[in-house]
Amino acid sequence: MALVSAKEMLQKAKAGHYAVGAFNINNLEWTKAILLTAEEQRSPVMLAVSEGAGKYMAGYKTVVGMVNGMLEELKITVPVALHLDHGSYAGAKACIEAGFSSIMFDGSSLPFEENVEKTKELVAICEEKGMSIEAEVGSIGGEEDGVIGMGECADPQECKKIADLGITMLAAGIGNIHGKYPANWKGLQFDVLDAIQQLTGDMPLVLHGGTGLPDDMVKKAINLGVSKINVNTECQLVFAEATRKYIEEGKDQQGKGYDPRKLLAPGFEAIKAKVKEKMEVFGSIGKAD
Ligand SMILES: [Zn+2]
Repeated sequence: MALVSAKEMLQKAKAGHYAVGAFNINNLEWTKAILLTAEEQRSPVMLAVSEGAGKYMAGYKTVVGMVNGMLEELKITVPVALHLDHGSYAGAKACIEAGFSSIMFDGSSLPFEENVEKTKELVAICEEKGMSIEAEVGSIGGEEDGVIGMGECADPQECKKIADLGITMLAAGIGNIHGKYPANWKGLQFDVLDAIQQLTGDMPLVLHGGTGLPDDMVKKAINLGVSKINVNTECQLVFAEATRKYIEEGKDQQGKGYDPRKLLAPGFEAIKAKVKEKMEVFGSIGKAD
């Protein structure tokens, strides 16, 4: 199955009270692990690519080529969207050109009116190309690609204004943070999420910073209209842990244990297990059919 826009899978998720995972990819192992798990679990899935990861993988065209090749050669039949995560205006345009099926334009650090103008322009392009587009209001805390946000709660009225521009899904800051949550974290602001959903109606809402959120908070957020949940750090942590264990046990020095296909296998399996676990919590298993 070719790449699809995230529109239909997220509208179905919103109506069905579950969420689709958007898992960040960094390389071939990551991409293959996520696609195979989605196929095995019959779950729709989004592959998210940050601008930094896009650069790391040699550029957006390389990413599109790799993902399209895998969809065909791994015989993936579940819906898959290839999505730019926290895109700049220029990054969004580059991904539209390169063949992504979905973009996020993160104008949350811009003055609100400029966020509106740029989002509006990109909505028109995405509509014409049949792509989905995510916009953001209220910055999400933590660090991503060297940018540190303190995390602020979105203004529900601003959310409504951006939602009305014709976007597919809306990311709103509700006290969520990228990376690990600090010990003194106050938790998600469910009253803000509730107010946003009441004003934006059927609009699928996006929860960034899914790593380390307790399952009950995730489920409550889904009940309040969250239909896309981003997972990045959590896969990185289990990949690193599994790889460290392999080396600490000296397995790279036994036989041909240094072969990268062997060295990276435990990390690959760890990502598969984590993705499956997340899909269970999000309720997306079996929803591809
Ligand atoms: Zn994010």
